[in-house]
Amino acid sequence: MKYDIIVLGSGPGGYVTAIRASQLGFKTAIVEKENLGGVCLNWGCIPTKALLKSAQVFEYLKHAGDYGLSVKDYDKDFDAVVKRSRGVADGMSKGVQFLMKKNKIDVIEGFGKLKPGKKIDVDGKEYSADNIIIATGARSRELPSLPQDGKKVIGYREAMTLAKQPKKMIVVGSGAIGVEFAYFYNSMGTEVIIVEYLPNIVPVEDEDVSKQLERSFKKSGIKIMTSSEVTKVDTSGNGVKATVKTKKGEEIILEADIILSAVGIKSNIENIGLEDVGIVVDRDKILVNDFYQTNIPGYYAIGDVTPGQALAHVASAEGILCVEKLAGQHVEALDYGNIPGCTYCSPEIASVGLTEKQAKDKGLDIKVGKFPFSASGKASASGAKDGFVKVIFDAKYGEWLGCHMIGAGVTDMIAEAVLGRKLETTGHEVLKTVHPHPTMSEAVMEAVADAYDEVIHL
Ligand SMILES: Cc1cc2nc3c(=O)[nH]c(=O)nc-3n(C[C@H](O)[C@H](O)[C@H](O)COP(=O)(O)OP(=O)(O)OC[C@H]3O[C@@H](n4cnc5c(N)ncnc54)[C@H](O)[C@@H]3O)c2cc1C
Repeated sequence: MKYDIIVLGSGPGGYVTAIRASQLGFKTAIVEKENLGGVCLNWGCIPTKALLKSAQVFEYLKHAGDYGLSVKDYDKDFDAVVKRSRGVADGMSKGVQFLMKKNKIDVIEGFGKLKPGKKIDVDGKEYSADNIIIATGARSRELPSLPQDGKKVIGYREAMTLAKQPKKMIVVGSGAIGVEFAYFYNSMGTEVIIVEYLPNIVPVEDEDVSKQLERSFKKSGIKIMTSSEVTKVDTSGNGVKATVKTKKGEEIILEADIILSAVGIKSNIENIGLEDVGIVVDRDKILVNDFYQTNIPGYYAIGDVTPGQALAHVASAEGILCVEKLAGQHVEALDYGNIPGCTYCSPEIASVGLTEKQAKDKGLDIKVGKFPFSASGKASASGAKDGFVKVIFDAKYGEWLGCHMIGAGVTDMIAEAVLGRKLETTGHEVLKTVHPHPTMSEAVMEAVADAYDEVIHL
């Protein structure tokens, strides 16, 4: 079979690429060895958000009294919570199946292996194309000191499908995945302890955000050990024992039922024929140019298997650009400095651009503004006063360098800053943009006003 484009892998990189390719008139096929939708729909973004929604509803029930309500009989059903999450993921995957059909994209089921001459072998059958786009994604990374056995030392896949809720869990790593699961399990009643190697949890975020999350998590009962490292695990007994080197250099033993290893991802680059074709890989990632071409003509790569932020929206944006360029459209390279990052624990985190430290390290002269949700009418009415919006502007030209938010619903608010930055807006323009009242989004306007000494509600 001969196609214009074959996409290898159907995550948010692959399936979105295939749809855009088909819209552009390319005869397109997609190869998938597991479920349509990849990690994002089946094992990542979507099922975790379903679990987190259950946790959030449970929290509301626990705190119903704060809203003047009385709920007498309520409890969680861990199995049902997991089942709901799987149902949501399955529904989304079926949605991709529908979209493939609607866009006349051939779905080839099986394990794809690249071959020279722009060909792909799928379980013994050969397909060729003018262009092949690799979107094989990634999986949970394993540390040598923390080998995953899938039972007592687990990765994210097992963490969202456990048959039994653990009483005690150690979460190693406090990036987005680690803190989302920490929040979920803590809300469900598991005793959770986070062990983070770096000095702050959510270490890529602005330090103020990390500190706020640490305060909120501690208040909710999550224990946190920063500047600490798991050096050894012993799974021989009933539970698991982790040897942890602490901030002070002491070695302590933590006991739990389960350890969740959330220390990042490992690209799916093995056994897919990269060596046979001669495609260059560096530090676990396929190297590509601004429009995702590898070193071998006719072979492209996008998403988690390439450098750049490992996020669903990045994978999709890369794939769209890649095929639009192939179609001869005049496209701009993606601005990796303007990619929003969101974490969906409670309080939520959302950010884009430079942190205050990064801006200072660059020697920039900056104006910083901050508005706490404790001063927001909507946050007070909602009983969600934890958190703030922080903005960073270039002092001379008013360029919006960074925006960092922590609080209820902020993941839906960050797009304002992303769009503002894309349109090269200045602080004064944001200030003069009337925001609706009462909303959490007013905090963005007020934070900008604070940067320019014009804040009203502080
Ligand atoms: C727990 C968790 C939560 C997350 N939450 C978010 C979030 O909230 N927001 C966000 O933006 N990102 C989130 N992510 C990250 C997001 O899921 C990834 O960035 C995204 O899925 C990457 O898309 P991709 O298309 O590059 O690869 P993937 O989604 O990994 O898809 C790759 C696909 O390729 C298939 N494949 C691989 N090799 C072959 C082969 N040889 N033959 C055939 N098929 C193959 C795989 O089966 C898979 O279906 C989360 C990730 C995890 C693990």
